[in-house]
Amino acid sequence: MLREETVFGPIASRRLGSSLGINLLPTKGKLCNFDCIYCECGWNRDGRGDTRLPSAAEVREALEAKLRECAASGTPIDSITFSGDGEPTLNPEFAQIVRDTVALRDRYYPKAKVSVLSNATRVAVPAVFEALRLVDNPILKLDAPTAELAARINKPVGKYDPEEIIAALMRFEGDFVLQTMFLRCRDFDSSSPEVLGPWMDIVRRLHPREIMVYTIARPAPMEGLEKFSAEQMRTLVAPLIEEGYNIQIKA
Ligand code: SF4
Repeated sequence: MLREETVFGPIASRRLGSSLGINLLPTKGKLCNFDCIYCECGWNRDGRGDTRLPSAAEVREALEAKLRECAASGTPIDSITFSGDGEPTLNPEFAQIVRDTVALRDRYYPKAKVSVLSNATRVAVPAVFEALRLVDNPILKLDAPTAELAARINKPVGKYDPEEIIAALMRFEGDFVLQTMFLRCRDFDSSSPEVLGPWMDIVRRLHPREIMVYTIARPAPMEGLEKFSAEQMRTLVAPLIEEGYNIQIKA
């Protein structure tokens, strides 16, 4: 499902409540440096060829108009959320857009959180890291503990080394939300010993303030993906819950 607008919603989010979305990617196509087998935007190759990214000025104008409209109509907003048709940090003006968004949030909805859903591939870029430090909820994905396993579930475009991502995530000193997809298919099984144990070891190294474990909820581009129930996921992450980690489980 592709977002046709730069600012959309608010929509009811399983994780974030009433969420006003910001799509920093093309409005008629997907742009991502992953090509996840479960991506609700479809495969990268099925994009519609639209590569134009909104500028910081366009996002600021669209966001302010929407916030003004929502405030006038009394529409609640719990989160202003960067999500959309791909990886938001690929927008070259991401840092400026985050700064503008925080300022507009402070003016119109000071109690709302600013959230960024990112695949974490660009957290080592200084401007991206600094921007992510400004938001309330940097929600950063790590589905697979090794490059070989990531190739099966995330299909990165170009080089991807989870150890480099982990080193960059360490700089958050735990002040971020780790997001992990749990699914099972021919090529990948989140519950298998080769995935689950090493993933838990990464969690222990990163010590995120919150972990969001979720499963497929919408049509996926790859066929044959199996979801997990909330009970199954709770059982899988039980050792971490016992160790005191704050884990949200969304089926
Ligand atoms: S990182 Fe997100 S947008 Fe990119 S392919 Fe994966 S699910 Fe889709």
